[in-house]
Amino acid sequence: MALIVHKYGGTSMGSTERIRNVAKRVAKWARAGHLMVVVPSAMSGETNRLLALAKDLAPSTLTESYGRELDMLAATGEQASSALLAIALQAEGLESVSYAGWQVPIRTDSSYTKARIESIDDARVRGDLQSGKVVIVTGFQGIDDQGNITTLGRGGSDTSAVAVAAAMKADECLIYTDVDGVYTTDPRVVPEARRLQTVSFEEMLEMASMGSKVLQIRSVEFAGKYKVPLRVLSSFTPWDIDIVEEAKSGTLITFEEDENMEQAIVSGIAFNRDEAKVSVLGVPDKPGIAYQILGAVADANIEVDVIIQNLSKDGRTDFSFTVNRNDYAKTFALLNEKVLPALGAQQVVGDTKICKVSIVGIGMRSHVGVASRMFRVLSEEGINIQMISTSEIKTSVVIDEKYMELAVRALHKEFDLDQTPA
Ligand code: ADP
Ligand code: ASP
Ligand code: MG
Repeated sequence: MALIVHKYGGTSMGSTERIRNVAKRVAKWARAGHLMVVVPSAMSGETNRLLALAKDLAPSTLTESYGRELDMLAATGEQASSALLAIALQAEGLESVSYAGWQVPIRTDSSYTKARIESIDDARVRGDLQSGKVVIVTGFQGIDDQGNITTLGRGGSDTSAVAVAAAMKADECLIYTDVDGVYTTDPRVVPEARRLQTVSFEEMLEMASMGSKVLQIRSVEFAGKYKVPLRVLSSFTPWDIDIVEEAKSGTLITFEEDENMEQAIVSGIAFNRDEAKVSVLGVPDKPGIAYQILGAVADANIEVDVIIQNLSKDGRTDFSFTVNRNDYAKTFALLNEKVLPALGAQQVVGDTKICKVSIVGIGMRSHVGVASRMFRVLSEEGINIQMISTSEIKTSVVIDEKYMELAVRALHKEFDLDQTPA
């Protein structure tokens, strides 16, 4: 008997028919003798629908002003799907109970719309498991120390599931989704993308943080910190497939490099259209510029990603960086109103039509020239690189958004990602 956590994403929970299928699959696992905790997302489209309602009422639903209420609102999506799943399981003849985040409780900090899980009290869940129930823990949400409902950022149900698995020392956490594993890149963009049987934790962390939304980055961080056995697999296989086969399907996130692991130089390509670029032009080039610009941005609680400072000319330089598109308007205003006059800079300009494309692979550690191959491919396609950022196992470029698919496809081909490595 094992303790297993299943997570089902929005598409997997997208209709009553699909919820019934999820219930049948979970029932199969429970009847095979496992203790089951299930973490569902809201039905697909529901979180967007709810947030659009808020936007109708207050077009700039800034987190600072409306965060608490946005979380009250968005959390209802998961509450509904959790209750529906509990009902479906009971209709299948299993005892089942659903809990909202605050009932568990899952404690978080108070950063509305992007709260971090601080602790999980598993006593209530454990008690129910012991008495033979399947327990449903509502994804994406928690409660802060003032008793306010919080949510964990888009895609946050992955994090709920892995955090619950970590807190309960589950034997495995299975993330069921609408693709049958982690691919070399988003299979919706590159049809030749190939499913990886295993992916190292470090690569998964980079892929997720560079924009592969198949797993939310924080879920991967949790898995790494607590060594949670984690697998991504499809919820669209027939629910009654052999459980042993099912348990081996999809993609396993591995924590140790073993010989059987695929040894490609580049394992995957991630992309992200969620960022915008801002530049402060004509900044007097003297010590402290970066601090004055980025310090003000950090004080406003805005996260910065790729940064470049140009060479100075006639004592002035240009300084550019990227932020999340949701923070673009705020960043632009802050730079214009505060930073520009304080620095005596000439102009602030911005571009929201950019994207970031990244190649990721632990093989890059031991191979030189990988980044230059990337730059060559982009130049052959006539794609201008606006910014570059590298780490030990990834290289990212910021380019014009309209070339994103072209860039991803060309890179996928260049690094032979459609071929099974020898
Ligand atoms: P869920 O609702 O189950 O959480 P998501 O939409 O959040 O599902 O994540 C699954 C989607 O992630 C897939 O449908 C796919 O389009 C996308 N995706 C992006 N990059 C990858 C990748 N490298 N491998 C697999 N899927 C990816
Ligand atoms: N429902 C939330 C979202 O759409 C959380 C999730 O699906 O993981 O972002
Ligand atoms: Mg998701």
